[in-house]
Amino acid sequence: MKKILITGGAGFVGSHLCERLLNEGNDIICLDNYFTGSKQNVVHLLDNPYFELVRHDITHPYFAEVDEIYNLACPASPVHYQYNPIKTIKTSVLGAVNMLGLAKRVNAKILQASTSEVYGDPKVHPQKEDYWGNVNPIGIRSCYDEGKRCAETLFMDYHIQNEVAIKIIRIFNTYGPNMNPSDGRVVSNFIMQALRGEDITIFGDGLQTRSFQYVDDLVEGMIRMMNSEPEFLGPVNLGNPNEFTMLELAETVIKLTGSSSKLIFMPLPKDDPKQRQPDISLAKDKLNGWQPNIQLETGLIKTIDYFKTKL
Ligand code: NAD
Ligand code: UDP
Repeated sequence: MKKILITGGAGFVGSHLCERLLNEGNDIICLDNYFTGSKQNVVHLLDNPYFELVRHDITHPYFAEVDEIYNLACPASPVHYQYNPIKTIKTSVLGAVNMLGLAKRVNAKILQASTSEVYGDPKVHPQKEDYWGNVNPIGIRSCYDEGKRCAETLFMDYHIQNEVAIKIIRIFNTYGPNMNPSDGRVVSNFIMQALRGEDITIFGDGLQTRSFQYVDDLVEGMIRMMNSEPEFLGPVNLGNPNEFTMLELAETVIKLTGSSSKLIFMPLPKDDPKQRQPDISLAKDKLNGWQPNIQLETGLIKTIDYFKTKL
């Protein structure tokens, strides 16, 4: 039985990871400050004696004897990470220092949930891991993008200087049950708007693209990465290469919900990336042929069913 710490464990992705690793017979510490996550996402796990829920903020040190750490704590939605940008960058940078310090002290392996945002508004398409990105260092997304880039640097430096066993994944847009309905991200916004019969808010002309991954595919990739050969540190892209415009996403959500909602067009937020698609050949090669199995309509149906329970 491995002792595993999951920071941000009460959030959207973290709650799925907690459940999967607990079901596989591990001893889980789920740590969260509930900024964007919720106890509701993990309340069904509390009966299991091998699941511990800890209220803690990773900008402060935390100590526990563990074998593995998945570092997910950080708001992921632009609305939430821009709410308190200084706190966001502290969470990425001080949080990484604290968790890497813990990993060094207890000799744990540590995985960082980095992001496709490290590529910024990419000039290379699709994005491969060796692309250094096109990121504005002083824009409204910088607290998140630069915080995550700095965290990657810290992970590499702790590995080089202190031989900490690290793994870095770059997650592309992921969706599924347990997303916060008022999260502000595009999938949750469109589904909630469609279910309520409200106008669907398209930012800009809706021709910008994203590649959407269902959460179960991501969790499988994360666990494979944690268990990959010790020499493989990443960064590795984890995402679904199927790319859609926001207009296509809106039309699909309207079709699947049977909604009468209309599209309305609103200003495009500053620095909003125009396109995003992962090249996943490295993940396929290094993670035993990992690739996403759940395609957009299938995943959206499961997510719509979840959001119906939140109305
Ligand atoms: P989320 O907002 O649902 O989860 C983040 C969790 O971290 C929440 O439970 C929140 O309360 C917690 N948290 C935030 N700040 C904290 C702090 N200082 N101390 C302790 N807990 C804190 O977001 P998510 O989609 O589940 O994202 C999880 C991770 O994956 C994040 O690090 C995010 O950057 C990364 N990621 C997610 C996506 C995606 O599309 N979902 C894409 C790229 C990267
Ligand atoms: N978006 C939109 N309507 C919304 C929310 C988002 O058109 O109600 C757009 C947003 O401008 C961006 C894309 O959808 O181009 C994805 O946004 P999200 O916040 O989900 O993720 P990110 O921009 O971080 O990829």
